[in-house]
This record gives sequence, structure tokens and C-alpha cells, in this order.
Amino acid sequence: MKRKGILIVVSGFSGAGKGTLMKQLVHSYDNYALSVSMTTRKPRPGETEGKEYFFVKKEDFERKIKEEGLIEYASYCDNYYGTPKEYVEKQLEKGKDVILEIEIQGALKVKKQFPTALLLFVMPPSAEELKKRLEGRGTETPEVIEKRLKRAAQEAEGIENYDFIVINDKLDECVQEMHGLITAAHETPARNQELISKMRKELEVFAN
Ligand code: 5GP
Repeated sequence: MKRKGILIVVSGFSGAGKGTLMKQLVHSYDNYALSVSMTTRKPRPGETEGKEYFFVKKEDFERKIKEEGLIEYASYCDNYYGTPKEYVEKQLEKGKDVILEIEIQGALKVKKQFPTALLLFVMPPSAEELKKRLEGRGTETPEVIEKRLKRAAQEAEGIENYDFIVINDKLDECVQEMHGLITAAHETPARNQELISKMRKELEVFAN
């Protein structure tokens, strides 16, 4: 039976290191596809169109919402962020595990639409380390950093909605841990309904 792809939602506070983690995960194993979101936020230095995000104007984002071209979208610190539908559907069909790196409102919407999605929450070792990482990035103003830390405090309230927590201390260990969790998630009964039905059918022969 062909291995089916699963949707993996990865959330975590801004500055938790999700971006680096995801890049390393996709680079290390070939079963992953990373979804590229659409946003109205301005590109940071070093970010390129179509790689980190599709950077669009507010009108274009709102048109995409109307056309039902997004699986989910949310407003985060004054900007829109959303997941384009087409890429995700195509990659899942190909059997890839598709990673959505999105914030919590979007994560909950995805879980509703796709009950077998796996929800992972990435945490830094401490809040102090989070602040240090955000400041060290050097790409955000102190006001934006403050906003993002406030938002982190709100997001922390929703962590229990996730299936697993991953602490991002050492990058390589964290990547391996995530891959392990995803590999194990493939084997749960809820994600193997077809296999279970087939086995039940085959067993019917012996039941009579
Ligand atoms: P950043 O501006 O730091 O790139 O992203 C801000 C937040 O938006 C992060 O928590 C990130 O995971 C989230 N985000 C990125 N893309 C999407 C998306 O398509 N949908 C939702 N709901 N959140 C997203």
C-alpha cells in the first residue's frame, strides 16, 4: 500500500528557530515538502520571493481568500499570513509529508479540517533565550520585538492543543527528534484506516 503523506503543523514563538529547523529537516530527509505561505508582511533582509514567503499586497491576499485559495489564514502582529491550497494538496497526493510552519490560530483551523494532522510546538530552552534570539537576529525594531514577545505569552496559553512539544536547544538533535515523532505518527491507527479496513476484510474469511 502506498505511503500516504500527512500534514505536519509546526508552531512556536517568533524567534524559537522554526525556520532553521524546518530547512534542516527538509534538507536531511527526502519525504518532506515545505509549504510556502503568502503574507502581507514586508520581506526581511535576505528573504526572497517564493522561498520564505510569497510577499503580496493586502488586496491580493484578500482576493485569494475570496477565491478560497487558502487552506487557512490568520492575522499576526498587523499582517496577514496564509497557506496556499494547491501546493499542499499536490504534495500530499505525491505521498510527501507536508510541513506548515504557522501560528496557533491557523494550526487550530488546520486540525479541524484535517483531523489527522500532526501538531508540533517548538519551544526555546527559556524565555530569556527567546528574547536573546529575537534581538540577535537584528532584523526587527525593539517595538516589533516587544510585540512578538507579548504575542508569545498569548500563544503559550494554547500549547496544550498540540500533540508534541519539541525543545529547540541543539539543532541536530532537535531535527532528529522531530523526524522520529513524525515517523511514529505515521503508524497510529487513525492514520492507517485503509490498512485496518483491508485487514478486517481479509479476516472475514476466517470468521465463518
Ligand atoms: P514571521 O513574520 O516571523 O515570518 O512569521 C510570523 C508568524 O506567522 C510565525 O508564527 C509563523 O509561523 C506564522 N505564519 C507563517 N506563515 C503562516 C501561514 O500561512 N498561516 C498562519 N496562520 N501563520 C503563518
